[in-house]
Amino acid sequence: MVEKYRHLYVVTEIEQGKLLTVSKEMIGEARRLIDGFNQKYSLKEKVVAIVLGNNIKELSKELIEIGADSVIYCDHPQLEEIRNTIYTKVICQIANDKETGGKIEPEYAENFRRPRYMFFAADSIGRHLSSTVLAELDSGLASDINQLVIEDIEMSHQQKTGGSKETYEKTLEMYRPDFSGFLWTTILCLDNRNPAFKRDYHPQACSIIPGVFESLEPDSKREGQVIEFVPQIDEQDLKVKVISREIIQSEVDFETPRTIVSFGRGIKDDPEKNIKLVEQLAKELNAEIGITLPMSKKPYSISQSLDSKYMIPDRVIGTSGHKTSAMLYIASGVSGAMQHVWGMKDSGFVVAINPDEDAPIKDECDIFIKGRMEDVLPLLIEEIKKQIQIVEA
Ligand SMILES: Cc1cc2nc3c(=O)[nH]c(=O)nc-3n(C[C@H](O)[C@H](O)[C@H](O)COP(=O)(O)OP(=O)(O)OC[C@H]3O[C@@H](n4cnc5c(N)ncnc54)[C@H](O)[C@@H]3O)c2cc1C
Repeated sequence: MVEKYRHLYVVTEIEQGKLLTVSKEMIGEARRLIDGFNQKYSLKEKVVAIVLGNNIKELSKELIEIGADSVIYCDHPQLEEIRNTIYTKVICQIANDKETGGKIEPEYAENFRRPRYMFFAADSIGRHLSSTVLAELDSGLASDINQLVIEDIEMSHQQKTGGSKETYEKTLEMYRPDFSGFLWTTILCLDNRNPAFKRDYHPQACSIIPGVFESLEPDSKREGQVIEFVPQIDEQDLKVKVISREIIQSEVDFETPRTIVSFGRGIKDDPEKNIKLVEQLAKELNAEIGITLPMSKKPYSISQSLDSKYMIPDRVIGTSGHKTSAMLYIASGVSGAMQHVWGMKDSGFVVAINPDEDAPIKDECDIFIKGRMEDVLPLLIEEIKKQIQIVEA
């Protein structure tokens, strides 16, 4: 059977002319997956990087050095700034363009219809873009993925297969952490083979959590193919204008290895008081304050001064926020969901304060203090003050 879906397209992102780290990580993972895929199925499918922007052709070389076989670049002044409408349109044009797809593997140019798989970054731009692109392409999307496997699977399903057993070859199994990261969900994007609703769902696509996969070391000897794509842009696609753009530098510093005191939903019994205790402890230790993701959604009512200072996305530790390698990390009222742990697991020494001995954070810390933060933090602050006095005396 000649297959009409081929290759893995990776939609990369750039910032100030440079590839984002997550884009490099996606290319690295795409390379590993496609190498295994080609070996398993004796095929010659490719890792195809897509890059959009203005004066970005030069990035093609770098993309090839880090693992892409082919780069489809689209250079246009109107693509200088990322705007969802126009980016969605151009990426869909690329995915649907048989001529461009045919150039990647001329042997199969006749049959090429669309990419087999597609990757986006699970950052704010990629999450938005992946949803609009896949809606336009009328296929499925799994978001926030952190593990990928390609397998042949057998299944019978009332809707998808009309109840009979079918083999779905080369299926991308997309894993994501769910239910606070305590359960893994496998998401599949399968063609509908039920005669009553027959239709294809390709590409199989996902957005990938930054920091999960490793990029490859650049190899200047790697060779690849560079394809220019000329987009069709209409006036009506350009209704959104970017008047000015400013990158706001964060005032939160998680980069310098130091102490971080973080808090989570465990503040719930007395949010205002507990945040003030965290603030006091951080002051004594000259520490930065981190939070868990739910805290950034302002779940409890506290005074505006505290909520706008601490319950902000910029302070989130974890896959949706920052990764830290603090010397000392104090997790107070934090359960230890895998998305949070990813952001703090490289810390030198970890102290957790939690009344629940079964909380997963217990497995991630050096010292577990069983207790409520409102009881433990005042004792800790008092003791630290004493110790500082002794050291300074
Ligand atoms: C795609 C995706 C991405 C995500 N990204 C992130 C991320 O980057 N960062 C992140 O943090 N989360 C992230 N999450 C959410 C994550 O899965 C968890 O839901 C979240 O980390 C839990 O936050 P928590 O520990 O504050 O709350 P909970 O899980 O509700 O834990 C609260 C803890 O407080 C303890 N507690 C209760 N009372 C007290 C008290 N008086 N004193 C002390 N402790 C007490 C409880 O025993 C419990 O262990 C993500 C989820 C998804 C699906």
